Amino acid sequence: MIAVSVKTRERKEMIDVTAELARAVSEAGMKKGLVLAYVPHTTAGVTINENADPAVPRDILTALSKLVPERGDYRHGEGNSDAHIQAGLVGSSASVIVDQGRLALGTWQSVFFCEFDGPRTRKLLIKLMPG
Ligand code: ZN
Repeated sequence: MIAVSVKTRERKEMIDVTAELARAVSEAGMKKGLVLAYVPHTTAGVTINENADPAVPRDILTALSKLVPERGDYRHGEGNSDAHIQAGLVGSSASVIVDQGRLALGTWQSVFFCEFDGPRTRKLLIKLMPG
């Protein structure tokens, strides 16, 4: 397992971590298998989506904030229920097939670390599963 530190700068932010996954694969010399990106946090997540147009991650964050607003009928005392719910919606892991030593992502796909209650220093765990 590889642990990568991710420093977020905004309360809500999507950070492209594709290069971190590609680096882990190439440093291990892995040619085929699966790479798993896992976020061990309850107010952050990981997802795969478009990064060619930066408006896409922006629109995703805007829509998630509309769907789950910061203020609402929440009981959680920390005041960050929106972040917990948004993290649940995107999920805490994403896996990518590795073929010929490369991530088999689509042309427009990137792997994003999703911050919902930043800024913080976060952890991204990467697990390589050759096979
Ligand atoms: Zn909380």
